Amino acid sequence: MTLVMKFGGTSVGSSEAIQRTSEIVCDTQRDWSQLVVVVSAMSGVTDLLHEGAATAAAGNATAYREVANNLRRRHFKIISDLLPSSPEGQQLTAELDKFVERYESLCKAVLVLGELTPRALDAMTSIGERMSIRLLAAILRHQGHSAQAIDATELIVTDDSYQNAVPDLEKTKASTEARLRPLLDEGVVAVVTGFVGANEQGITTTLGRGGSDYSAAILGQALEALEVWIWTDVDGVMTADPRLVPEARTINTLSYREVAELAFYGAKVLHPKTIRPVIENDIPLRIKNTFNPQGAGTRIIQNSIQRNGKIKAVTAIRNLSLINVEGKGMLGVPGIAARTFGAVADSKVSVLLISQASSEQSICFAVPTGAADSVIASLEGEFSSELIRRDIDRIVAKENVAIVTVVGAGMQGTPGISGRLFSALGDQRVNIIAIAQGSSECSISMVVEEDDTAEAEKAIHALIVS
Ligand code: ASP
Ligand code: MG
Repeated sequence: MTLVMKFGGTSVGSSEAIQRTSEIVCDTQRDWSQLVVVVSAMSGVTDLLHEGAATAAAGNATAYREVANNLRRRHFKIISDLLPSSPEGQQLTAELDKFVERYESLCKAVLVLGELTPRALDAMTSIGERMSIRLLAAILRHQGHSAQAIDATELIVTDDSYQNAVPDLEKTKASTEARLRPLLDEGVVAVVTGFVGANEQGITTTLGRGGSDYSAAILGQALEALEVWIWTDVDGVMTADPRLVPEARTINTLSYREVAELAFYGAKVLHPKTIRPVIENDIPLRIKNTFNPQGAGTRIIQNSIQRNGKIKAVTAIRNLSLINVEGKGMLGVPGIAARTFGAVADSKVSVLLISQASSEQSICFAVPTGAADSVIASLEGEFSSELIRRDIDRIVAKENVAIVTVVGAGMQGTPGISGRLFSALGDQRVNIIAIAQGSSECSISMVVEEDDTAEAEKAIHALIVS
């Protein structure tokens, strides 16, 4: 019986938090014969490592040293709190200090070269996780458990796409079985770096920001784990953002599809890539709160029980622009949509929502506001002759919009859901600018003015609780 648990940055972010985490690991170990613990860097550490590297690349010779001292301070504080004046504590201090020194020398190299490559950045940012696993493993050992820190560079085999590496399942399976299984068979708790991998040559890669959840899912798949648990600092997936909707509550069960829609549309509970490895093996995923371990959390399974017509959650993405390509000459002309999205793809921007009325006189789609100018420039280039002929009248961006998305697989085949949503928004005088519903009917997205986001979430949330 193998369980993979992942602890996020806040769960190892302070002495108290790491103490709780180690208690949770000890409690869990009683019920599971094989336990893998995936750990993020201490909260804020990955950002710090990035910042030091970027300032060095920009020619600043002092900022990265401050970062290094800050890293020492934060990690050493935990050692002095939890492993006071012990030989293990001293040894660990020396070991972590080496990692910080290595970071400093990489920063120095970046400073001299004046260039920060994605490969160097992966080597530098992986240091956060390399330190946190050693901390947690030492604390577990101090409490009498056999635990070992293992760098995922020895386990997760990826391609060469630094900063967004893609794991190879077969190779990862082979190295995990060879390296990890014998330890697990002996009852050792394996404490593994999240976020990190290595290519076939053994050069460090990372899986992208927030990628530790993904690491846990990959290891769960590779080890054919019975379950994967993600420990974080909230009680699970919520029905809405509690900062906008005070009545928001934890959802007990969700299907993989529903959680994937939520993760994509901005609910920051799980890294969106986490779902695929667990779906493929039908491994249940649980989200739990380190600071409230008795809470049930959210369970994510293949097919959650659906109550007809039930909306499960509402979420929003802000800072978007809605781009509109309009013209009377677009009617019945094949290829306009293909060329529109080809031009968007050329500017390397991903589109969040698309809507076209059947009158075919306009196509609109949402992109992050920061990308709007380059998308418009690319579209103007693509359609320069249509613009001159006035087949296309204008290409414009409407700024300051948000997408509010309603998720629930139970909406499928239930008439009247959109009617209820639109009336709820209408009652609050929230104007809907555009709408899209995928044919899976698992979510409906509405574009609203950014200022209306909170009102919209609240109005829709009232439909969930009622
Ligand atoms: N430490 C990494 C980050 O902050 C990975 C993670 O926390 O999931 O992005
Ligand atoms: Mg995270």
